[in-house]
Amino acid sequence: MVKFYNYDIVFQEVPDEVTLAINLTNCPHRCEGCHSPHLRKDVGTVLNERVLDDLLAKYGRQVTCLCFMGGDSVPTEVAKLSEYVRKHSGLKTAWYSGGEKLPGTARMFDYVKVGPYMPLKGGLDSENTNQRMYKVSGDGFRDITRLFSKTKKRYREDT
Ligand code: SF4
Repeated sequence: MVKFYNYDIVFQEVPDEVTLAINLTNCPHRCEGCHSPHLRKDVGTVLNERVLDDLLAKYGRQVTCLCFMGGDSVPTEVAKLSEYVRKHSGLKTAWYSGGEKLPGTARMFDYVKVGPYMPLKGGLDSENTNQRMYKVSGDGFRDITRLFSKTKKRYREDT
């Protein structure tokens, strides 16, 4: 069963997209320095097609992408919800997985991030990061991780 803790509209999690990010709970990973330990607990509200319909009715016109943040304990269910969103809203979808490798369900999303959080290597915007973000297309998977450090550099130059 997919459950979520909260959601927010975000701008930097998926390059060039305005994203409704839904934080899923019951994370099976135990990354050192975890930024969201509350998401490891089996708590929250059930996320199903009906709840997605409500969220899409409320926020669907404000965003271009819906991102499932986590959900590694129920990857097949998350992928089915992604297919539902793509079919019924026309939005792109993304998945932030804490797993090491691209999952078998990766083609059911438009973007997939993989890699556990490692404090010494940093997140996607770190030049040393172990994490990767892929854009999924008919041709395969394009690694777009470098776009995160560019965003950070641009922000530094602008401020
Ligand atoms: S995947 Fe995210 S929520 Fe899960 S343990 Fe790692 S940092 Fe924490």
